[in-house]
Amino acid sequence: MATCDVTILGAGPYGLAAGNHLRHIKGLDVRVFGEPMSFWEKTMPIGMFLRSNWTATQIADPDNQLTLENYQIENGNHLTTPVPIARFIQYGQWYQRKALPDLDRRKITLIESDPKGFRVTLEDREQFISKRVVVAAGIAAFAYRPPKFDKFPTCLASHTSDHSDLKKFAGKAVLVVGGGQSALESAALLHENGATAEVVSRSTEIHWLQGWASRTLHHSLGKLTNRLLYAPTDVGPAGISQLMARPDLLRRLPRSWQDRLRIRSVRPAGARWLIDRLRDVPIGLGRSVASADITGDRVRVRLDDGTERTVDHILLGTGYRPDVAKYSFLAPEIRKSLQVFKGFPILQEGLETSIPGLHILGAPGIWSFGPLLQFVSGTHYASQALTRHIARHTKS
Ligand SMILES: Cc1cc2nc3c(=O)[nH]c(=O)nc-3n(C[C@H](O)[C@H](O)[C@H](O)COP(=O)(O)OP(=O)(O)OC[C@H]3O[C@@H](n4cnc5c(N)ncnc54)[C@H](O)[C@@H]3O)c2cc1C
Repeated sequence: MATCDVTILGAGPYGLAAGNHLRHIKGLDVRVFGEPMSFWEKTMPIGMFLRSNWTATQIADPDNQLTLENYQIENGNHLTTPVPIARFIQYGQWYQRKALPDLDRRKITLIESDPKGFRVTLEDREQFISKRVVVAAGIAAFAYRPPKFDKFPTCLASHTSDHSDLKKFAGKAVLVVGGGQSALESAALLHENGATAEVVSRSTEIHWLQGWASRTLHHSLGKLTNRLLYAPTDVGPAGISQLMARPDLLRRLPRSWQDRLRIRSVRPAGARWLIDRLRDVPIGLGRSVASADITGDRVRVRLDDGTERTVDHILLGTGYRPDVAKYSFLAPEIRKSLQVFKGFPILQEGLETSIPGLHILGAPGIWSFGPLLQFVSGTHYASQALTRHIARHTKS
């Protein structure tokens, strides 16, 4: 059976950056699998803008050549900020063609333990042995639908990740559940595409990013002080941002501090540029759906404030809850023996799981390495830490 040194499952920002970095280790045989940028193309709405700022939207490249700036120059595509999703997808695909032109688009269906490492099976049943496996499968498997909506077919209640084109809701009444960026931006896009949108959120207020206090701070501080308080990775508020950009330091803090800082850094929030776009969209705060029943081809919804409305669709902007047990490509024996905490794998140096040679990058890593790993800007840390680790262990 064919063998290789490292297999990367995933061709989103994390898989691409990891593949590119590992290819810089001389003699290392690395295979990368997945549809480049498919999560962004298939599960995020057309018309969306990235919430992360310009520097935080760069996919890590060890040669610092595959930047947004060089993508613009080479393709003659002028990029505006915030960066539109269509351009970011093109940037990721351009990155892939440059760094990993031999990427294999086939799906990996099974990863099993093997005395020589791991046995990898592809969708067409081809098998090979890989000494190490790096999982960069993202969060698609973790979309969270509150159980009360289980009984609904997806034509009546769906998760935001079920759609890339919200135009299909033109002329329909849609209730959007959630108060984070995805729920709020979906509501704005629904409204702009001719739907009647309404938002309900359990939270009693919407946190708008770069609010008054933060903007005043930014303006009153000089460039240098700003740089001291805010890391280019753009995760977390003033000061805390620098800590979030350094996962190895964050990991040394007591667990309770890490948890508190993580929650503070990634609480549900909307980008400031959504405020105007949501002016005509009713937003009910401090409310939740008490009951929902199918009536004909519509849904009658009662909120916990006693009000009722009948809508054509409920759109769940209820986010994602990482749980690696949902990675169905991991063989049951691997899933059973992985050390996890509440669904998050417990990762060591080099983002290695409790199973030697198996690494997990991206959002599942946030319990061990902090919230940086759920953003594109975490590709720098993750791919460098992974590469250092593999280089060290390959030499010995
Ligand atoms: C609505 C929304 C907006 C966001 N906006 C931002 C933002 O502005 N800035 C930011 O930094 N982050 C943003 N994020 C977070 C974003 O998802 C992550 O930053 C990024 O996608 C993580 O990259 P990844 O490589 O881990 O996963 P993904 O991009 O999800 O890539 C996963 C890859 O794995 C592949 N794959 C999965 N299963 C298999 C398999 N069995 N075999 C082979 N390949 C497989 C897929 O094809 C895909 O290529 C947003 C998320 C959402 C939901």
